[in-house]
Amino acid sequence: MNELELLKNYDALLERAYARLPAKLSAKAYDIPDLEIEYVGNHTEIKNFAHICDRLRRDPQIVMRYFLKSLGMPGALTERGTLIIYNKKIKRDTLKQFYQRFLNKYVKCQTCGSIDTELIRKGKVWYIRCLACGATYTIEPI
Ligand SMILES: [Zn+2]
Repeated sequence: MNELELLKNYDALLERAYARLPAKLSAKAYDIPDLEIEYVGNHTEIKNFAHICDRLRRDPQIVMRYFLKSLGMPGALTERGTLIIYNKKIKRDTLKQFYQRFLNKYVKCQTCGSIDTELIRKGKVWYIRCLACGATYTIEPI
């Protein structure tokens, strides 16, 4: 299986898992903001980037690093909180897949699925701490 198929399978598994959760828990998934993507000239812009980072309690610099590294593209964060990816029109689907992967790996609690978590960095060791259930676990640094 290639990576895309793996992702699709993973999404299907997640959807099935969510369907079995009580309504109160699964409702939290709707709190996750969507990416507002625009193409300006040759560039790709995520307009609400800072807003998303704020909602997810993540440092925009870290989230930007994740996106640019994943895409292998140069980019910058503007004062207005837009992420610009230079000189390429990146497909919406591709950006959404990376975003979903970021959420699964660096935001959603592995224990209860809440997105109300925080990222704690202690030197080279990174942790996720869940504000809903209190779970703490280490993650791979970006
Ligand atoms: Zn939790």
